[in-house]
Amino acid sequence: MTLIDGKKTSAEIKAEIAEQVKQMLAEGKKAPHLVAVLVGHDGGSETYVAHKIKSCEEVGFKSTLIRFEDNVTEQEILNTVDKLNNDPDVDGFIVQLPLPKHINEQKIIEAVSPNKDVDGFHPVNLGRLVAGLDTFVSATPSGIVDLLKRYKIETAGKHCVIIGRSNIVGRPLSILMSQKGIDATVTVCHSRTENLKEIVRTADIIVAAIGKPGFVTADMVKEGAAIIDVGTTRVASTETKSGWKLKGDVDFDNVAPKCSFITPVPGGVGPMTICSLLKNTLKAGKMR
Ligand code: NAP
Repeated sequence: MTLIDGKKTSAEIKAEIAEQVKQMLAEGKKAPHLVAVLVGHDGGSETYVAHKIKSCEEVGFKSTLIRFEDNVTEQEILNTVDKLNNDPDVDGFIVQLPLPKHINEQKIIEAVSPNKDVDGFHPVNLGRLVAGLDTFVSATPSGIVDLLKRYKIETAGKHCVIIGRSNIVGRPLSILMSQKGIDATVTVCHSRTENLKEIVRTADIIVAAIGKPGFVTADMVKEGAAIIDVGTTRVASTETKSGWKLKGDVDFDNVAPKCSFITPVPGGVGPMTICSLLKNTLKAGKMR
């Protein structure tokens, strides 16, 4: 069994991005500029945005954080999005989700200019992905494909079972995995799937993106399968200072001995997600 080290792989990719930024600066171009919009004080969102900003600094990007309190109106966010869309100094920006309930997330997603949508959430970018056109691929699916490639996990003709069909993970990943060049045969499972265990047991590659700790158990895994665990759920813990730790969707201890490759949580898919955001921002900077 090989443990897939997302931290190490993301460090390698960040070093490659930093090299490209140096090159851009040497050619007299500006460093890519990412703006993050953060609403409220949700612990998870605070942590993710802090990591994104820190990663920008590591690779030499310019980064800006725009903060709003929970009681910000939808119109105020839309005005900010409009300003960022029209600001030539900004290459790409993200509005960290989830947003407070009184704000329509989809409306915000659709207000972001597709050319600056480095999260790849805009329907135009999702549509371009479906059509096999160049686009900003959403960060987590893109990071998963990078991990599979860098670890030389064979995908052509293999059966990839994805559990979860969200617009940010399962759905776009299913499209990527079946694209020419990756060539997997893909099954997408969700909460209404019948015989889920039996289907997962036929998978060569299992991607779990559900948000239910330990959902994938050893009896669901074929000997030698590769496992990508996307789940990150905070569970109470006496072992950490914060009082919680992240748990994946896979029962790691019992599944790991059966499989060929497996990602840990944390330290697997998570660091790759940020890397993909950096890659998209670099691409946006080069498109300027
Ligand atoms: P989501 O929008 O809540 O979607 C969850 C999916 O799981 C849905 O499609 C749902 O099916 C399916 N599901 C729920 N219970 C199920 C069950 N019993 N059997 C089969 N399918 C079931 O979640 P998400 O945004 O994709 O995120 C999933 C997990 O990944 C979360 O833990 C999230 O924190 C994590 N995540 C991690 C990263 C990272 O960078 N590491 C990035 C994004 C997300 P229905 O559609 O039928 O409801």
